[in-house]
This record gives sequence, structure tokens and C-alpha cells, in this order.
Amino acid sequence: MHRRSIAIVTFGCQMNDRDSEALVGIFLDKGYILTEDIYQADVILVNTCSVRKHAEDRAISFIGSIRKIIEYRQGKNNSLRSVVGLIGCMARSRGEEIFKKMPHVNLICSSAMLYKLPEYAEEILKGDKDRIIDLEDNKREEWFYHSPFRFDKNHAYVVISTGCSNYCSYCVVPYVRGELRLRDPQDIIEEVKKNISLGIKKITLLGQNVNDYYYIYSDNYSGVRILGGEEIKDKNIFSFVDLLKELDKIDEIEEIDFITSHPKNTSRDLFYLMANSKKFKKHLHLPFQSGSDRILKLMNRGYTKDKYLSLVDDFKMIVKGTLSTDVIVGFPTETEDDFLHTKDVLEKVKFKYAYIFKYSVRQNTQSAKLEDDVSQGEKERRHRILLELQKRLSLSI
Ligand code: SF4
Repeated sequence: MHRRSIAIVTFGCQMNDRDSEALVGIFLDKGYILTEDIYQADVILVNTCSVRKHAEDRAISFIGSIRKIIEYRQGKNNSLRSVVGLIGCMARSRGEEIFKKMPHVNLICSSAMLYKLPEYAEEILKGDKDRIIDLEDNKREEWFYHSPFRFDKNHAYVVISTGCSNYCSYCVVPYVRGELRLRDPQDIIEEVKKNISLGIKKITLLGQNVNDYYYIYSDNYSGVRILGGEEIKDKNIFSFVDLLKELDKIDEIEEIDFITSHPKNTSRDLFYLMANSKKFKKHLHLPFQSGSDRILKLMNRGYTKDKYLSLVDDFKMIVKGTLSTDVIVGFPTETEDDFLHTKDVLEKVKFKYAYIFKYSVRQNTQSAKLEDDVSQGEKERRHRILLELQKRLSLSI
């Protein structure tokens, strides 16, 4: 008897890695086998990223190349139906366009609706439907997160929130992944404990901005939330730091880390916890994006260069750890002076790693309304200068 098989190709971040893993788990539960041979797979899923143009271009080129595979399968045996699914960020940013232009893509599904994929795949494979597109933006079904399959048997990614409501002006995430949605802390802790029972001792918490995590309880809990750099005291709020404190109490966990932190909501409480527990990696990924206050304002980042540097000073003093960051060069209107402020932050902080990108316009974002007026040549020059600088600096750490 033919056992159906699934192949999955993932572009982008750890959030997509975990979504792909969870999907494999729910397809295996339905009796599928996992294959790396996309020529043989009944279901081919391409999990995509829209954060940068380059990532989208790579995914589109890959999806285009799958057409040959479908022709090969159909040439071999006309009765072989296949599912070619485009999922993840690009479903909502480019899905309708790809559905029209690439007839061999017969399934498009937004991040929120991934849990429905086995059902959709079945409908196509059985011939009940030829093509399906689902771009709904909903809160995910909680059971999707509990899919037990892990590619790495020693380390688990655990999603604490999806989407983002920060609306940084260059970023497409709020549009393609939706507004910030939070999981109940009890569900997160239960998922972590389940992983521990399977022998996993290293946990990475995932969120587009983990520091935005909070949960409102109606009891007398007394917590503090940092919003836009301001402390908001509310007796019913369970914060990201509270969540970490709960995980810190679980003896079997050997290592905890988390990505990604936003400087605007990162609290000194977090640093004290990182410093005082052996379980936390003494490393923080803290994207600063630009060192120019004018550009930071245009980016809607919610902090200034001085505030960022002061946060870094506190981190170094309290945690005594290392830092990494993300930087964008060539944001609209960025002058040489703005760029020199960015260079200055790299020189002052001395990051262990810096992921330096050239600005590219993302559809529907606020910055797409600004003229992309820094020439490609200039973006490349600034990019090169920072890459060379970072290479030298990281050698000294
Ligand atoms: S914090 Fe800003 S850059 Fe990060 S996902 Fe949210 S909108 Fe995008």
C-alpha cells in the first residue's frame, strides 16, 4: 500500500523552523512519512519568509523550480496527484499573486491556519478540490503548538507568541503574521515539561518580540510590564520575566534562551534574572537597526541611540555577557551622518555578531510610502564598511 509522504523546505527564521517541525509532527500523526526526496513526495510544502526581498526571491525561484517535479511525477504516472503548498509569511504578502501566476501551486495557507494543512492536503490528493487558498488571520489552535516532533532531540523551540503589534515602519511581520497573540503561560509551561519528559534539556523561547509577552490574570498577582520603555504596574499582569522565572524553577532544564528582544521593552529585571541563574545563556540578541535618532524615529522603533547604549551598559554591567544585533543600512533618507551614528554604535558596543542588511522596500509597510532614495551603490558601500568593521570587532571579543 502506498504510504503518503511529505517534504518540507523552510526559509527564514527559527519561528518558521518550529512551524515546519510542528507540521511534520501532525502529518506523521496522520500516517505520512517524511522524505527529503521532493521528486517522490505527495505533499511538498515551502515555508516562506517575507522579511527581506532576498528571502522572497529565493523562495519564488525554488517554487518555480518545483514545476519540473510535478511534470516528472505526472509524466511517470498520470494518476499521481501532488500537493505543492506555499505557506508562511509569503502566503499573505504574495499568495494571491503566486496562485494566479503559478498554476502548479495548488495550496496556499497563512501562518495562522497551518493546523488545517493535513485536511487541505487530503482534499486535494483525493481529488475533492483542485486548489485551496486560505489567508485567514486568526489565533492558532493551541493543540498545534503541542505537536511533539523535533528535528533536534536535545533542544526545543517553544513559541510563546505569534505576530507583532509594534509596526516598525520597514517591517512586514504585523501584516503577514498578524497582531501580537499570546499563549497562556500554563500551556507554555506544559509544553516545556512535555519536552523535558522526552529528555530535552535546552529550551529556546520564540516570539517576534519576546519582551512584549504578558498575560493578564484576574487574581492578585503583582507584576511589572515595560511598555515603550515605561514601567506599567498592574497587579494582574504576568510578564515575560515572570514566565522565565517559572521556567527557571524547573530543575531538569539545563539551558534557556529566547529570541528576539526589542530594546524598547527590555527590562533590567530581565538582566538580573539572566545574571543570577546559571540556566540562562549570557548572550542577548538586541537589534538596534540604526544609530541615528532621526532614522530610528522614521523606523518607529521607540528608542534613541543614547537609550540603546544605556541599556547595553546595564546589560554589560549586570549580565557581563555578549550581544548580537541586526542593522539596516540605506533606509530612506539615510545620510552619511546618520550612517556614521550607526557605525559608532557598532564600534562602541562591540557585538559578538551583527547581521547587517541593505534596506529593501516591503509592500504595505509605512516606509514603503517613503522614496527609496539611497542608491544601490551607496547601500552596498555602507553595507561593506559595516561588514568589514564588524569582522575586525568580532575578532577582538
Ligand atoms: S518588533 Fe518591529 S521589526 Fe520586530 S517583528 Fe515587530 S514590527 Fe517587525
